[in-house]
Amino acid sequence: MPILSSPVQYLKGIGPKRAQDLGRTGINLLEDLLYYFPRRYEDRSQFKPIGSVDIGSTVTVKGEVISKKGRPAYLRRGIDIFEISVADGTGRIFAVWFNQPFLHKYFNVGDQVILYGKADLYRDKIQMSSPDFEIIEDKEAGLDVGRIVPIYRLPQGFSQRVLRKLIKSVLESQITRLQELLPYDVRARHSLLNIAQSLLNIHFPQNEKMRLRAYQRLAFEEFFLYQIPLILRKLKRRDKAGIVFDVKESALESFFGKLPFALTDSQKKCLQEIVSDMRSPRPMQRLLQGDVGCGKTVVALLAALGAVTCGWQAAFMVPTEILAQQHVEKICQLLTGLQIAEHREQKKPKIGVLTSSLDDEEKKATLAGIKNGSVDIVIGTHALLEEGVVFHKLGLIVIDEQHKFGVSQRALLPRKGVNPDCLIMTATPIPRTLSLTLYGDLDLSTITQMPAGRGKIMTQALAIEERQKAYDFVREEVKKGRQAYLIYPLVEESEKLELRAAKSMYKEFKDEIFKDLKVGLVYGKMKRDEQEKTMKKFRDGKVDVLVATTVLEVGIDVANATVMVIEHAERFGLSQLHQMRGRIGRGVHESHCLLVADPKSEDAQARIKAFVATTDGFKIAEEDLKIRGPGEFFGERQHGLADLKIADPLAQMHLLKAAREDAHKLIERDPKLADPKNAELKRQLYRRFPEFERFVEVG
Ligand code: ADP
Ligand code: MG
Repeated sequence: MPILSSPVQYLKGIGPKRAQDLGRTGINLLEDLLYYFPRRYEDRSQFKPIGSVDIGSTVTVKGEVISKKGRPAYLRRGIDIFEISVADGTGRIFAVWFNQPFLHKYFNVGDQVILYGKADLYRDKIQMSSPDFEIIEDKEAGLDVGRIVPIYRLPQGFSQRVLRKLIKSVLESQITRLQELLPYDVRARHSLLNIAQSLLNIHFPQNEKMRLRAYQRLAFEEFFLYQIPLILRKLKRRDKAGIVFDVKESALESFFGKLPFALTDSQKKCLQEIVSDMRSPRPMQRLLQGDVGCGKTVVALLAALGAVTCGWQAAFMVPTEILAQQHVEKICQLLTGLQIAEHREQKKPKIGVLTSSLDDEEKKATLAGIKNGSVDIVIGTHALLEEGVVFHKLGLIVIDEQHKFGVSQRALLPRKGVNPDCLIMTATPIPRTLSLTLYGDLDLSTITQMPAGRGKIMTQALAIEERQKAYDFVREEVKKGRQAYLIYPLVEESEKLELRAAKSMYKEFKDEIFKDLKVGLVYGKMKRDEQEKTMKKFRDGKVDVLVATTVLEVGIDVANATVMVIEHAERFGLSQLHQMRGRIGRGVHESHCLLVADPKSEDAQARIKAFVATTDGFKIAEEDLKIRGPGEFFGERQHGLADLKIADPLAQMHLLKAAREDAHKLIERDPKLADPKNAELKRQLYRRFPEFERFVEVG
């Protein structure tokens, strides 16, 4: 008899080939089958009297087989056709199947059957073509009809019917052995079903009410399991010996004085939160979030300077070369006239840049500076993670646009120091409860204000035929001395997708449409020096119109750019559109974002509509989450939410909160999960989070 942790291959009817097909869907053990939840359900529990079945409707009927026959094969050469008729006293309906010769023997006249399918008119008869069916034997409940039926996402080579049978058989053989992983008091507090009832009812619900209760319980379980590693990680950090930065208030104030603007209250508050973390011996793990353009970089830079005044190095990791370059310029500009400490030989902080396209010599020099400590602040891409990068005394890490990095990448940088402080920045603000789930191990600071004196951004969606209007508008603005971005989803034209692409459009703009204007082009794969040259020209106003791909999504900061035209806007995600729009409206002038779009799908229409309606990043993020669901929203590279199979953090925030509180209590009681009562919980945690063992056992 197989047990829960047996490979599926032990099941009857599952050979190596089928086991492989299941494996590709992530189903390897019996247990995985039980946790392979239906994608949706169909209520086939209500039977329609056959006499009142409407043509074209999809219905469940129940009746007696009164005839069966194979239709003559010559009608459809070589195709086996099998037909039965079923009556229930109100009428008669036919059902046909093609090329399923085993059915001839399966049905017998006199059988009670249930059929589920679409009723069509065929030669004056009402007929279902290949309906789902079930012969009612005794009182046993059907799997495929006559009930609320689960519909699964199918592994290759499986039909709904076969998968249902498989899951049902595993449920039946394992149900008595299922171990409860939620502590009893937790279940009692929230009136949650036990595990056996939950798994039974999530797959084969007795009724809608039980299905909902099963769903609640399993969603709670998922939240609960997911919170534990986060909470443990956070607690573990409390015990670690981090760096105590003696950041002087006077030093910070002298930096403020050197800035060309006053910080917003919100920026000041966040900076205080960060600095107070830095002063404490506990290693900082703080998320700094705020809408694009709210001024996160400045705050992070001030924190970095704080670290430098205490004799430590700081590292900024950013996702693109353009952004690295721009941060350097920005920082150097802010630092003009700034002195770090009287006693240092080198009074100005020294900035180093590290990206993968440095030539060997530049790279060698920078690496040497990082190693001997002459470089105070390093700004770089993921090149910072390379083995050859050794810091003299790394104290503070800033990770910008964290969603662009994978979890493992984010975890690598801190290892280049000894429990350094980490500040993680994101411009995709999310509702607070949700950030608890995703970043439950982080502390949170939010910049809620925009700097004063920013021009408004107007957004408008144009149909494809109206494209010329957008170009005319660009021309007008350039005439007034402003600059414009023209964004395309692709660099090169592709044969498959008939989309306009940056390169060819650049040519068209340069040679025809904007022949009299100065047009530039940037895209991600471009050589670094060319990219830089063009960006510099744009910043200096020597390029009027910049044609670009989504490289512009992060960081570019040119206050004089007031128009952005996004072509094929339906192809971009909502948050991505918002990030790009954040490139304009940075100066005092009113700005305009024009979408040229042909949204065909409902989702695309919803995105465009939401985008035009608001410029508030929090609202945009919430809409985006709703449209895409958390899994896709955070992307596969993000841990956590993408792995949630059943729980929906947006719709079930109350459950999430409750699960988090209960997880907290449990960890306080049993931090090592050593209590035998928590054995199953621990087993499940190890199973789902292979890296989890480290937290508990080692730390
Ligand atoms: P984010 O990284 O949050 O998108 P940045 O830090 O790049 O935003 O800031 C956007 C622009 O606003 C930069 O040019 C920055 O110098 C400027 N800025 C930041 N804070 C302020 C402020 N308090 N007042 C005026 N301008 C500011
Ligand atoms: Mg930024």
